[in-house]
Amino acid sequence: NGEVEFENVSFSYDHRTTALHGVSFKVPAGSSVALVGESGAGKSTILRLLYRFYDLGPGEGRILIDGQDIRDVSQASLRAAIGVVPQDPVLFNTGIGYNIGYGKFDASSSEIEAAAQAAQMHERIMSFPDGYETKVGERGVRLSGGEKQRVAIARTLLKNPPILLLDEATSALDTSTEKDIQKALQNLQRGRSSLSIAHRLSTIASADLILVLKDGQIVERGSHKELLALD
Ligand code: ADP
Ligand code: ADP
Repeated sequence: NGEVEFENVSFSYDHRTTALHGVSFKVPAGSSVALVGESGAGKSTILRLLYRFYDLGPGEGRILIDGQDIRDVSQASLRAAIGVVPQDPVLFNTGIGYNIGYGKFDASSSEIEAAAQAAQMHERIMSFPDGYETKVGERGVRLSGGEKQRVAIARTLLKNPPILLLDEATSALDTSTEKDIQKALQNLQRGRSSLSIAHRLSTIASADLILVLKDGQIVERGSHKELLALD
């Protein structure tokens, strides 16, 4: 499970401008879709609608998860089904363990730290640099952008949702950090359906389907190979 379908979706934030117009596509369960296009093309709107940050009105099309209209799904089950890895994760001013485990465990419980350790082991995605052990329980920890990304990934891994929404960071991390994070994201995506706002060529090239958006419409779609063949 984890199949996502947009059926003729149109949306406007303010009834004057159109953010999406007649968008239809399908994400088969377990596959990856990369959303590309200029700023303002409608990429974030697609993710926000799927997460029901905004709701589609009547006549604006349908969004289905495993064949069910998401307007008929409770917020709680939708949140459980969808994991979000934002571009710039906002963390609590607490230790890493709490940040990873929040939402799943009570604050400051030893379970959180256990969860953090488990996440670290699991698929080896964490690989924090030196000092990780002490940072787990510490409060008021300052983390680098790369560390924040790892925390966000670990948090999502623990939640274990069938669907992922990824907003790829545009800001440059150092190369080795970026490689680690890319690897962690790839591990996270394995076996899940994903929609990514993609900026890196590697993400675009590895996606099962690329959707090119312009002014709220899909103007090209296909695999990397297929799209290259168009030129
Ligand atoms: P992208 O993610 O591709 O940069 P968006 O989905 O954020 O594009 O935006 C699509 C369109 O909707 C743009 O014209 C943008 O200005 C508009 N838009 C986005 N968010 C809002 C908002 N909260 N209120 C009004 N208009 C918005
Ligand atoms: P952006 O910074 O990309 O323009 P906004 O500031 O409009 O996004 O987002 C407003 C709120 O919506 C933020 O609190 C953010 O966490 C949430 N949000 C944005 N995109 C998503 C998404 N795809 N899934 C869940 N929440 C989102």
